[in-house]
Amino acid sequence: MNYASIFFDDTVNGIGFRTSLFVSGCSKNPPCKGCWSPLARGFDYGMPYTEDTKESILDSLKKQYVKGLSILGGEPMDNLGDGVLLDLVKEIRTKFPQKTIFCWSGYTFEELIKDPIRLEFLKHVDMLRDGEYIESLKDIAQYLSGSKNQRIIAVSESLKQNKIILYNNFIII
Ligand code: SF4
Repeated sequence: MNYASIFFDDTVNGIGFRTSLFVSGCSKNPPCKGCWSPLARGFDYGMPYTEDTKESILDSLKKQYVKGLSILGGEPMDNLGDGVLLDLVKEIRTKFPQKTIFCWSGYTFEELIKDPIRLEFLKHVDMLRDGEYIESLKDIAQYLSGSKNQRIIAVSESLKQNKIILYNNFIII
């Protein structure tokens, strides 16, 4: 897997200070109209994700004030084939159970859970920002901006109740 960038102490993509990993590559065809990261749709874009990359992410999460990891793209859900993202979230769950994992996807929750590999990954994610970016529904005023159709989903609760539970319904730390 390649990644486009990592932001440390990021305050834009989620709650509190976070580490934000932007993976490269998106297979959405056609792509979202108005895609906000056309360069990062290429799977060869950016730098190879290595063991050192993983260690730098894990190191950043040792800081008490860092609330967790945000995974964006590109399209994270099109980057599960080599297993490195699953390995990363599993390791975070083990080493930092109190930190949150947020993920952005251009696919809907309902589409994602049909695929066993994506479902397995989602089980380690606290919040999913889901759905295609639709430029005509753009809303910069809403939390995490994007477009109005995109939802902020509490993943484990949604899986447990077999219906969409929004993350805003929960106390956010
Ligand atoms: S999912 Fe993201 S990277 Fe892919 S086309 Fe849509 S906005 Fe662009």
